[in-house]
Amino acid sequence: MDVIVGGGVVGLSLAWRLAREGRPVTLVDPAPASGASHAAAGMLAPVSEVTYTEVPLLRLGVASLRRWPAFAAELAADAGLPGPEALDLRSEGTLDVAFAADDLAALDELAAYLERLELPVQRLTGRECRRLEPMLAPSVRGGLLAAGDSWVDPRRVTAALLAALDRRGVQLVRARAGELLRDGGQVTGVRLEPPGGDGRPAELRAERVILAAGAWSAGLAEVPVRPVKGQIMRLRSPQPLLTRCVRGTVHGTPVYLVPRGDGELVVGATQEEMGFDTRVTAGGLYELLRDARELVPGVTELEVSEVVAGLRPGTPDNLPLIGPSGTPGLALATGHHRGGVLLAPLTADILLGEEGELAAMCSPGRFRDIS
Ligand code: FAD
Repeated sequence: MDVIVGGGVVGLSLAWRLAREGRPVTLVDPAPASGASHAAAGMLAPVSEVTYTEVPLLRLGVASLRRWPAFAAELAADAGLPGPEALDLRSEGTLDVAFAADDLAALDELAAYLERLELPVQRLTGRECRRLEPMLAPSVRGGLLAAGDSWVDPRRVTAALLAALDRRGVQLVRARAGELLRDGGQVTGVRLEPPGGDGRPAELRAERVILAAGAWSAGLAEVPVRPVKGQIMRLRSPQPLLTRCVRGTVHGTPVYLVPRGDGELVVGATQEEMGFDTRVTAGGLYELLRDARELVPGVTELEVSEVVAGLRPGTPDNLPLIGPSGTPGLALATGHHRGGVLLAPLTADILLGEEGELAAMCSPGRFRDIS
């Protein structure tokens, strides 16, 4: 049996896909879907999120994005939902906008770079941008449309995954894994905390433990994962303000706006190295709103419905750790940093046995001393 530690979007997707294959699996989490996956905006946007130094991440993201439509359709069916639209999966693309001459030049460069990678994007004038998104600021002078980029509501996804697991009879143990059980050099299960609460066993034995505890993974094994704080806010408008994701760089900081079908507009996100701090700060929210207003002035009229901070599981090279750890009995599905929602389908495929170049890029073996 596999025991998965951690029920965020990564652990839940994995448990569901394993169960679908008829493999025995137990998931351990005191509060499933409460970590970074609860905070995430849900952008499935490998192209518009690209940076010049992150081509491997781009390739992982593009591969996983291609798998999202089938993943969402199967999940919706398994969860008893009418269809993938119930997850608010949308694919109108991302519009990356610029204001100043040097930002426009950077967009031109990015467009040429993406073309070389065979990921064509459309370069737009300011007027063309506003034709697509009339609420954009008049000062927007140009943009780049990544037509294939998509997004989803991560909270609907995790709720659907929990429903699908329930329907498939997967055991969900609402407890914390206090430590990994080891026998010689082998991981053989997990010790639960508090032990024996609610009549449950004090420990679970497993043929394979899959560590999917996000930013908390390093508390259980020697893995190079650290928390990267992200503050994000949710606004509400009677009518949707945007039809697609909009992003831009303001005062040197990236900001994005993600519209949901129900009128919610998600504005994110800060990136802070603050350890396990999840306080929402006045400064963080001020910067988000200030920058979002530059892109779409109308945001200041909207009601604030939620502010929250989450912890992304960061790794030294920003790539996830997926696959056997090097310690017998222990596999990893962690370190997804800014892209755990995007990479969830690919992660599950790799742990179900997919081999090849993509799996090799995520292999924990690229770091020494994992145990
Ligand atoms: P988490 O969702 O953090 O889940 C970890 C789980 O492990 C939690 O449920 C926790 O309770 C459990 N756990 C911890 N310790 C233990 C233990 N000892 N025993 C048992 N269970 C334990 N990604 C995208 O793809 N697109 C986005 O647009 C996007 N936007 C983001 C915006 C913000 C503000 C943030 C913070 C993140 C964003 N991300 C985005 C990143 C994404 O949220 C993460 O990569 C993803 O959620 C990681 O999923 P996870 O399942 O590994 O971790």
